[in-house]
Amino acid sequence: MTKRIFRSIFLVALAVLLVCTVLIMSILYGYFNDEQHAQLRAQTDLAAQAVDALGETYLSQVRTDGYRLTWIAADGTVLYDTDANAGRMENHLNREEVQEALRSGYGSSEHYSDTLMTRMLYAAEVLSDGTIIRVSAEQQSMVSFIVRMLVPLIVMLAAAALLSGLLASRLSRRIVKPLNELDLDHPLENDTYEEIAPLLGRIEHQHREIENQMAQLQQKQDEFSAVTSSMSEGLALLNAGGVVLSINQSAARLLGTDQSAVGRDILTVNRSLTVQDLLLKAQSGEHAEATLPDGDSEYQLVASPVLSGGQVSGVVLLIFDITEKSRAEQLRREFSANVSHELKTPLHSISGCAEIIRNGLVKEADLPQFIDQIYSEAQRLITLVDDIIRLSSLDEGAEDVPREPVDLLDCAREVTDRLSAYAQQQQVTLRCSGDPAVIQAIPRLLGEIVYNLCDNGIKYNVPGGSVDVTVTQAAHESVLRVRDTGIGIPKEHQNRVFERFYRVDKSHSKEIGGTGLGLSIVKHAALVLGATVELDSVPGKGTTVTVRFPHP
Ligand code: ADP
Repeated sequence: MTKRIFRSIFLVALAVLLVCTVLIMSILYGYFNDEQHAQLRAQTDLAAQAVDALGETYLSQVRTDGYRLTWIAADGTVLYDTDANAGRMENHLNREEVQEALRSGYGSSEHYSDTLMTRMLYAAEVLSDGTIIRVSAEQQSMVSFIVRMLVPLIVMLAAAALLSGLLASRLSRRIVKPLNELDLDHPLENDTYEEIAPLLGRIEHQHREIENQMAQLQQKQDEFSAVTSSMSEGLALLNAGGVVLSINQSAARLLGTDQSAVGRDILTVNRSLTVQDLLLKAQSGEHAEATLPDGDSEYQLVASPVLSGGQVSGVVLLIFDITEKSRAEQLRREFSANVSHELKTPLHSISGCAEIIRNGLVKEADLPQFIDQIYSEAQRLITLVDDIIRLSSLDEGAEDVPREPVDLLDCAREVTDRLSAYAQQQQVTLRCSGDPAVIQAIPRLLGEIVYNLCDNGIKYNVPGGSVDVTVTQAAHESVLRVRDTGIGIPKEHQNRVFERFYRVDKSHSKEIGGTGLGLSIVKHAALVLGATVELDSVPGKGTTVTVRFPHP
């Protein structure tokens, strides 16, 4: 812009200068021309008077100094000429100035030389005797005037061009400076040319519009981030080339990366073939799903293409952590297999005994023994089925059952009362003590926790041993503790006794009617009630199980 302004100013200045020069030159030339004509007329007049008075005497004596005087008779014959022999000169009657003088008393004309460098001025005046005096003088022509003025003109023009160049440069810089110094962030605060005020007003308006749009975009971005960051599912948006455009916290966590993944190819974040295949499918416009095992965890990946104008412009990748789900499925499969196995054993035993009896292979005396066997196996089946039903009912959303206030001590007393006969039979002392502790619970589940713990305490005890059930109430929790002086659980089994069908000594447990589900029920029920279970056991000394019910 500075250059354009400079060029414009400079050219205008130069043009004005040239036009002025030409004008001045032509005015000057006109002035000098008029002067020369006037001078020639005055001299012609003087010469006319002198010739009138003195005739040829004057002409022969006068010093002409660049002038040529010709005396012409009325018929055009040259009578005398200061520069040439009059006798040899042609008739001058037809000369323009002579003709004019004959008409009006005075005439003038001018003739240019071939080079146009000089011109001759002629003036003629009629004398009193009818003769004509003609005066001619060589004068500079316009061309020679210009040629003579050329050097000073060039010098002047060069100086003027230099000066106008300097001025144009300063001026253009001064014009542009306020424009360069415009504060476009605050357009209306600028104190500059009023011509650009509308432009600044428009910029201000657009500023506000851009700010509004940016704020809206930011708000949408924040909303999107808020929604996606609170999602437990992973969400990643990729462009058509697989570059991560956005990734939420869950996706970053599940893929083992962070926000630095944004802008990188997803394959540099996770190189597995599963992800590659999934992306290829999505990039070709298909919806694709796959599971991705990763250490102890398992993820389900869902990739959907984003289509715009029939072209895949990006990919939405959803990642679900299905570790718990597949673990639960695994447990369910194991549980079903275990249940079938556990049920099959007593059934085989019952069927075997019944078959032997039916075939008449049992002596009369042995019959009660076989019937006992059938009875105890059937009892075992009933216990097993009972436990399975309890567990299943726990699996099927006991969480929804409403809680009610239950006194833990009452519940413990009721269970110990129920089991006192069994304890006596096992020669075990069963005691219950403590403070009343009312908690919000599901009475049936609470009963099952206490029952199973007490039952185990009696079952895995030794004759003369004891089981103590105590209930304590603290500021932030109520605690149920079942301590026995039984056989204890070896360290290596302590972590596993809460698994379904897990038994430390399978044959001993079966013998005494264990199903391997008691502690599973305790753990599950405690989970539903929001309680924690701790096991502390020393083989040969006894076991203490502590269940803590935190107060809400
Ligand atoms: P079961 O029906 O066989 O008793 P549980 O789930 O209640 O099944 O217990 C799992 C295993 O843990 C039992 O088989 C037993 O070996 C051991 N166990 C549980 N409670 C006690 C205890 N109080 N003392 C010693 N061992 C125990």
